[in-house]
Amino acid sequence: KVLPYFTCGKIIKGFGRGSRELGIPTANFPEDVVKSLPEAVNRGIYFGWASVDNGPVYKMVMSIGWNPYYDNTEKSMETHIMHNFNRDLYGSVLKVCIAGYLRAEMNFNSLDALIEAIQNDIKQASEQLDKSEYKQYSDHPFFQNQE
Ligand code: ADP
Ligand code: MG
Repeated sequence: KVLPYFTCGKIIKGFGRGSRELGIPTANFPEDVVKSLPEAVNRGIYFGWASVDNGPVYKMVMSIGWNPYYDNTEKSMETHIMHNFNRDLYGSVLKVCIAGYLRAEMNFNSLDALIEAIQNDIKQASEQLDKSEYKQYSDHPFFQNQE
């Protein structure tokens, strides 16, 4: 059993797919964090918890897919935190707990269909995370400040 899986790293610049313009920014982990992901964590959409610079713990949805920068030969991890930061988070430390699996990756015929699917993912993820079986991880010692 590989979940829950805890990891952290500095937020790096993505590939400018304009997700922020769509209202769905995704924070990207650097290569070393992605490389250390266990083989058993397959591609797909996951849900869990996230904090930025040891701040409050928020719900998140994460896409684990293929990184176009490396000709889709390397995995990528993109986290949408369910909080309005109103600022860039580049260079900040992102801590995540990947708590559960939502669905497999899909292809979409239109941008509207993609956005609709992501909005639905956010809703489903939020509902799952309210269950005690997943909620318990939001106050896991992993998220407590360490100096
Ligand atoms: P990039 O291609 O660089 O990943 P995005 O358009 O996906 O750009 O925007 C992601 C960036 O937006 C993150 O790296 C972070 O700095 C910022 N950001 C602001 N709010 C959030 C949020 N709620 N979740 C994730 N990233 C956020
Ligand atoms: Mg992004």
